[in-house]
Amino acid sequence: AHLARIDAVDEKVHAFLHVDRAGALAQARAVDAKRENGEKLGPLAGVPLALKDIFTTEGIPTTVGSKILEGWIPPYDATLTKKLKAADVVILGKTNMDEFAMGSSTENSAYGPTGNPWDLTKIPGGSGGGSSAALASFEAPLAIGTDTGGSIRQPAAVTGTVGVKPTYGGVSRYGMVAFSSSLDQGGPCARTVLDAALLHEVIAGHDPLDSTSIDAPVPPVVEAARNGSVAGMRVGVVKQFRGEGYQAGVLQRFDESVELMRGLGAEIVELDCPSFDLGLSAYYLIAPSECSSNLARFDAMRYGLRVGDDGTKSAEEVTALTREAGFGDEVKRRIILGTYALSSGYYDAYYGSAQKVRTLITQDFEKAFEKVDVIVSPTTPTTAFPIGERADDPMAMYLADLCTIPTNLAGNAAMSLPCGLAPEDGMPVGLQIIAPAMKDDRLYKVGAAVE
Ligand code: GLN
Repeated sequence: AHLARIDAVDEKVHAFLHVDRAGALAQARAVDAKRENGEKLGPLAGVPLALKDIFTTEGIPTTVGSKILEGWIPPYDATLTKKLKAADVVILGKTNMDEFAMGSSTENSAYGPTGNPWDLTKIPGGSGGGSSAALASFEAPLAIGTDTGGSIRQPAAVTGTVGVKPTYGGVSRYGMVAFSSSLDQGGPCARTVLDAALLHEVIAGHDPLDSTSIDAPVPPVVEAARNGSVAGMRVGVVKQFRGEGYQAGVLQRFDESVELMRGLGAEIVELDCPSFDLGLSAYYLIAPSECSSNLARFDAMRYGLRVGDDGTKSAEEVTALTREAGFGDEVKRRIILGTYALSSGYYDAYYGSAQKVRTLITQDFEKAFEKVDVIVSPTTPTTAFPIGERADDPMAMYLADLCTIPTNLAGNAAMSLPCGLAPEDGMPVGLQIIAPAMKDDRLYKVGAAVE
């Protein structure tokens, strides 16, 4: 049924870069056979899922939305892919994304944009716009995203779906193509809080193949999602997460959500987190710095594209020609920015200062979580904007992640879930819930209470 739905709508939506029809049907039949033979089934047996094209899949193309990996077939599965298969999930295919997960609209994909199913002329968010669009268009009931500065939560917000960035280290990064390794985190996307929790439990957990993976039990997210409540909880509202640049209808729906929580027995606490204002600036030094280092491996020798290898050119020339042709503008912009910020003479002034700001933001969160159990905010300052509107204005595009970035810098957990439609444009608004590191279950407890 989901393959038929993809056939009917994906020409318009363009959520998928690759539909693995044969693989999906084979997996579904294997689940049926297991059931008939009375074998034990995985916890998500037979449930279809759309996988962001940043996770390696053995034998299935993995492009990361880039021309530089066009035609590359990974010889191995990411840990997350393995866990999905072990849970008997049916992987439908790979979803569209901004190239190397750099963007907030999916317009930076080398394979063309994705439409927002609520209004196809608008962006589905990014970088994981393919995954969020697949959910909102009913092409898949579950999806996977990755969140470096908001790429799970912002697409969820603008498509009226649920997305969770687990605590950093909660889900293995092995086989997830690296953008900014100290910020990148894979996580679940779904249409309901409980669905997200069921997927969270399957993909989370310690992985010896990822040295930053947390070696501790997975927080009890499913139990929390089944027992939603905010009664007696202290819920923080941060002064810095509103003001200029926030759409009136977004703030209206957010304020209503806060009142709903108060009505359900939560105590609302005002918080001042002054360093949050510096989050965007610090992020746009740290993320490009790590990207300039991570993307050095795309040298035309190891993977995918190779341009100009006609027997007359040096290895350096082939590398340069391939990177020139294979990377898009935003990726080049960040490699240049990051290389500059890390260069000797500038390192302390730029990268070093950004790391200090990161510490201040972490301390703001620590102080806040002495007073509250969770923090809430709008997920993103505006609803989905028209495709093309911010494409030539990187600064305007970066503002989409104003409320999501501090969480990545501090490494704690956050969720976006729908909280109504903005009156001015009828587009979905996202409510963000933020919890301390390793307290991911609180997101689900609060999310299930207000969804
Ligand atoms: N929009 C942010 C960026 O462009 C975040 C992307 C992400 O979370 N992968 O870097």
